[in-house]
Amino acid sequence: MVMSDRRIALIPGDGIGPEITAATLRILEAGGFEAEYEILEAGQPALDKGLPVMPESTIARIAELGIALKGPTTTPIGKGHTSANVALRKALDLFANVRPTRSIPGLKTHFDNVKIDLIIVRENTEDLYAGIEFQPHKDMAQAVKVITRPGCARLFKYAFEMVRKQGRKRITAVHKANIMKLTDGMFLEEFYKAAAENPDIIADDIIVDNCCMQLVVRPEQFDVIVTENLYGDIVSDLCAGLVGGLGLAAGANIGENCAVFEAVHGSAPDIAGKGIANPTALLFTSLMMLRHLGERSIADRIGRATLQVLGEGKVLTGDLGGHATTAEYTQAIIDRLADVG
Ligand code: ATP
Repeated sequence: MVMSDRRIALIPGDGIGPEITAATLRILEAGGFEAEYEILEAGQPALDKGLPVMPESTIARIAELGIALKGPTTTPIGKGHTSANVALRKALDLFANVRPTRSIPGLKTHFDNVKIDLIIVRENTEDLYAGIEFQPHKDMAQAVKVITRPGCARLFKYAFEMVRKQGRKRITAVHKANIMKLTDGMFLEEFYKAAAENPDIIADDIIVDNCCMQLVVRPEQFDVIVTENLYGDIVSDLCAGLVGGLGLAAGANIGENCAVFEAVHGSAPDIAGKGIANPTALLFTSLMMLRHLGERSIADRIGRATLQVLGEGKVLTGDLGGHATTAEYTQAIIDRLADVG
């Protein structure tokens, strides 16, 4: 690794995490990005040592460094340990999860005529993910949905500023306020308060079920979507599916003083250790990190090389219909860097 003044916390994660992390770092280094990575434990490797899924020391160090690149960590369904991701987002108060979705020119997908270029801003600490669940009776389980005015206000402040910074025009709030009148009603009320303070940006709203249908039928109508935690989780996977799948979907968790860059997908245990995972989602995630650090030209160059390789379709991983290994795909991007100037 390159010696540099810039220190970044690195959680390789488990499942395919270490494979795609290694591939991503190789490409970043080949693209001229210099940093020192401090490897921190979380997920299965931490559990194997008898530590919590997201150890306090890992959280504290990320808070000190202010920036982390994170590979996926497994979350078993049902009983067992809580999600490392949810723990991290709550502990560091990473209130906004930013997930861009863009169609890749030339890449064959199930929806070839679809043109998408949108950003989802998902609330990241409240909603049904607040983790308040109980079982008052053996045949009944309940969960509490939490929406707060301050939580909404800081999310919308960030989202409207992001719309302006990115040169976007329109922001759409996604909700279910027709049914959840108090919680989603409050979310929507706060959204329109923020909209009134940002009259230069077009603001509207849509109910989540209709949003899903519209995303499949006419996704080009969306520019920036801002939504609650659970809807954002689901809608962003839908968007990933429209443009080629989870292997391409990048994400960033943003707080007041800290940012954790993490791909949308999970640890993909079904393909872990086989050397066939697609590292693009984590690579695109790392390019969001580079832009956050002001390294726009390196990020743009690596992005162009990657889009060319994907668009040509000759060297693709299995999830995109190809036969390349992670290593072959990684090398194809590195080779292409020489051509993209
Ligand atoms: P989580 O609940 O942790 O988000 P998940 O249940 O949504 O995880 P993933 O681990 O994201 O599941 O995997 C869903 C499917 O997508 C699996 O079949 C997996 O192999 C595939 N997949 C996810 N990421 C990649 C990737 N980077 N490359 C190839 N296939 C992937």
